[in-house]
Amino acid sequence: MHAHPPSSPSAPEAVVIHDLHKRFGSLEVLKGVSLTAHEGDVLTLIGSSGSGKSTLLRCVNMLEVPDSGRVVIGGEEIRLKTKGGRTVPADPKQVDRVRTRLGMVFQSFNLWSHMTILQNVIEAPVHVLGVPKAEAAERARMLLDKVGILAKAESYPVELSGGQQQRAAIARALAMQPKVMLFDEPTSALDPELVGEVLGVIRQLAEEGNTMIVVTHEMGFAREVSSEVVFLHQGRIEERGRPGKVLVDPESERVRQFLSRHL
Ligand code: ADP
Ligand code: MG
Repeated sequence: MHAHPPSSPSAPEAVVIHDLHKRFGSLEVLKGVSLTAHEGDVLTLIGSSGSGKSTLLRCVNMLEVPDSGRVVIGGEEIRLKTKGGRTVPADPKQVDRVRTRLGMVFQSFNLWSHMTILQNVIEAPVHVLGVPKAEAAERARMLLDKVGILAKAESYPVELSGGQQQRAAIARALAMQPKVMLFDEPTSALDPELVGEVLGVIRQLAEEGNTMIVVTHEMGFAREVSSEVVFLHQGRIEERGRPGKVLVDPESERVRQFLSRHL
């Protein structure tokens, strides 16, 4: 397949991160990171373990609150304030509202084990957005069909393979009709033979024009889906650019060495 088209600077900005800093105690994890995802972009974040990829992604939806810097989602800046020496959201309700526009899929599937797959998918639309149950269920079935597990709608998570559970988690995130999907190593916990089915679903979402930020170690996948690849090293962007450049002929010797270990 062809690589994802390059970022379109004329498209509206879906996510803007500006000069983000984050420390945990004495450890400075993000040292001034700036990124922009325009609508339809697929940004992939790569880099060694501990480089700050998850922290960066978690700052986008305020699962971690940055110490300084700006996070702007769909043109709305998350307002932060300082309280007792710490940075916190100025308005928790704003964070709740902005979060409903962000779908997040983690390495561990995080499905609710006491609910069927269908119940997992309709839970937030019904209880957070107030969508009528029948309508939510109809849409959930459509999404489960899209990710290839409609037959599992009435099953419980434990009855599904890891790949099926992760596809259910993707359907659950999509059910909120997010403006941006965030994926943090969505295939890292899977047996190798199940990785492809999950990457296939994410690839399809990319082709449909969804805006996504994806942390991944799957370099072939990153090469195919990315409009931009961002390589993080010790909390800074070491190199960024088109996948055909960064993943093939990088400027940075660090990126080159990383690729030699991951291709
Ligand atoms: P990556 O996803 O690139 O592997 P992370 O963002 O998870 O990196 O972590 C970056 C660094 O921050 C690591 O050294 C990690 O141990 C540390 N870290 C991450 N989250 C926390 C936390 N909640 N408390 C303390 N240290 C953390
Ligand atoms: Mg991580």
